[in-house]
Amino acid sequence: LIKEVQKNEKLNVVGQLAASVAHEIRNPMTSVRGFIQLLTTSENISVSEKDYLKVCLAELDRANDIISDYLSLGTNQSSEQFRKLDINKEAEKSIKSLSSYAMFHGVNVSSEIQENAHIVGISGRVQQMFINLIKNAIEAAAPHGHVTVKIHTEREKVIIRISDDGIGMDEQQIENLGLPYYSTKDRGTGLGLMVTLQIIRDMGGEFKVKSEKGTGTVFEIILPLVQPNQNSV
Ligand code: ADP
Ligand code: MG
Repeated sequence: LIKEVQKNEKLNVVGQLAASVAHEIRNPMTSVRGFIQLLTTSENISVSEKDYLKVCLAELDRANDIISDYLSLGTNQSSEQFRKLDINKEAEKSIKSLSSYAMFHGVNVSSEIQENAHIVGISGRVQQMFINLIKNAIEAAAPHGHVTVKIHTEREKVIIRISDDGIGMDEQQIENLGLPYYSTKDRGTGLGLMVTLQIIRDMGGEFKVKSEKGTGTVFEIILPLVQPNQNSV
């Protein structure tokens, strides 16, 4: 047990270090991205030069993705970080932060979120879960597809469904979901789903996938519902 605790503490230190390094690296990247974005509107550069700048932006975004995916691997979610959260707010924030990504891919993201529902989790992690799943859905549905995020409650559960009408998966692909580095994309990290499954597990949730090649995919996440008058965890 002592060894286990020491291991966890080490992981925690590594996680915190990773988080601060990532944060420090992101700041200059954001600034560089802003200036490159500005350059793309310049009238003094040629079309091919603009294409180079677009590559720069795409590569910066990719570096950012890699940081997000790897960063969350080492982090330890100690129980005091868990809070009562409005799942709808977390979903809406995540959808909003992906709006330009969706637009860039020509994908329409809509949501059907009815009543207020609370869960227990870590805000940043819950948003990361949504972002990873919605991003995958957008990538699968592009170009011109649709992604829907639906949330409803059923007795003591919150049911989240993220659907897309994209490329879909066969049985073998579904089997592989969540394995580290499993990716069918040219430039995927294959870490997003692994992290997402861990986040769901840490909240005591369940995860289901329904998919058909060429038709689309539905990811269903089932989380324990917290009653409105229930304060503590
Ligand atoms: P990455 O997005 O970097 O490839 P992920 O862990 O997020 O890594 O996803 C792993 C793989 O799962 C993807 O490469 C893809 O093959 C498959 N996948 C995940 N979500 C979907 C989806 N909505 N539709 C089709 N395939 C998906
Ligand atoms: Mg992904």
